[in-house]
Amino acid sequence: MKSLSRSFLNGWSAKHNSRLGPKLATLTLLLACTHAQAEWVGDARPMMGTEVSVYLWSDDPDEGQQALEEVFAEAERINRLMSTYIDGSEISEINRLAAKEPVVAGEELFRLIQRSLDISVLTLGAFDITYDSVGQHYDFRDRQRPDAATIDSEKENIDYRYVQLDQSTGSVSFLREGVRINLGGIAKGYVVERGVDVLRGRGIRHAIVTAGGDSRLLGDRRGRPWWVGIRDPREDGKVAISLPLADEAISTSGDYERFFDEDGVRYHHIIRPSTGEPAGGVHSATVFGPDAVITDALSTSVFVMGVDKGLTLIATLPDYESIVIDASGSVFYSDGLQKPSADSTE
Ligand code: ADP
Ligand code: MG
Repeated sequence: MKSLSRSFLNGWSAKHNSRLGPKLATLTLLLACTHAQAEWVGDARPMMGTEVSVYLWSDDPDEGQQALEEVFAEAERINRLMSTYIDGSEISEINRLAAKEPVVAGEELFRLIQRSLDISVLTLGAFDITYDSVGQHYDFRDRQRPDAATIDSEKENIDYRYVQLDQSTGSVSFLREGVRINLGGIAKGYVVERGVDVLRGRGIRHAIVTAGGDSRLLGDRRGRPWWVGIRDPREDGKVAISLPLADEAISTSGDYERFFDEDGVRYHHIIRPSTGEPAGGVHSATVFGPDAVITDALSTSVFVMGVDKGLTLIATLPDYESIVIDASGSVFYSDGLQKPSADSTE
């Protein structure tokens, strides 16, 4: 397993030098005495077609438990708005009606669609929530995929510019029959970002909220960074790279999350909008930075764009970094990352 750090994290470890050790030990002991009840609490539940987990430090275990519940309730609330699998969800209503008439969306959904369209512009269409015109024809559990004729006709409906937002009325319309949107590439980032907002509002200062491949860290792990693993895309349960992070978001998009293999071809859930087919060339793309909504959408985007174009895009975004594992298993790092040193490689 390799570990690497961003340059600012070197500063972090330099501050925690050994001379401070005894003082910190005394302080920790004092804190332990004044908060005899304080502890880590956590839980993980199947939600949104994946697992949502929360792990936090609370001075009071009952309050910690309530905080967990509030985050799961928030995830459920967002899922009910944004899931295309729920018939009556706001997004399903939009998909049903927006090609016929403008549909007034709730402010929250409207803003997330707006952010998705902005990211489409930034990524030159690699990220495109209208991918679902083709995406809806996949069922990874049942090993179903669209045939060539379906892909050919449905890919004509993929183009984020068919989605029109009217700021004055808060409504969404589609310029073409057959257009569908799906927020699967950004909604989990939104869930973890909102989850951390909920915890912050309750005075919690150390937590990690995860939904599938998206995590948002609140603070550090009480004096140490969180170590977040990027999994080996081809070996279940093995970590390829681990990163020390604090107060940040990290998202990984991989071709191992939802897929099936057929005749040596992997059919997976990340669609290249220009072809309507699963994007090849990359096994996983990880992006980290301040905002989980952005890291979620950008990890999907970098996956689609591939190593060169993806890392070129990340180089233009000073707060965001990326690690890409390509289809041969080689690892590529964005410019702002310090490469793993020989002594940190096992
Ligand atoms: P995960 O769902 O595992 O967190 P991602 O963040 O990469 O993984 O999101 C993949 C999901 O994004 C897909 O399941 C699908 O819902 C959606 N998606 C697929 N292709 C695109 C695309 N080109 N642009 C935007 N969303 C996409
Ligand atoms: Mg994503």
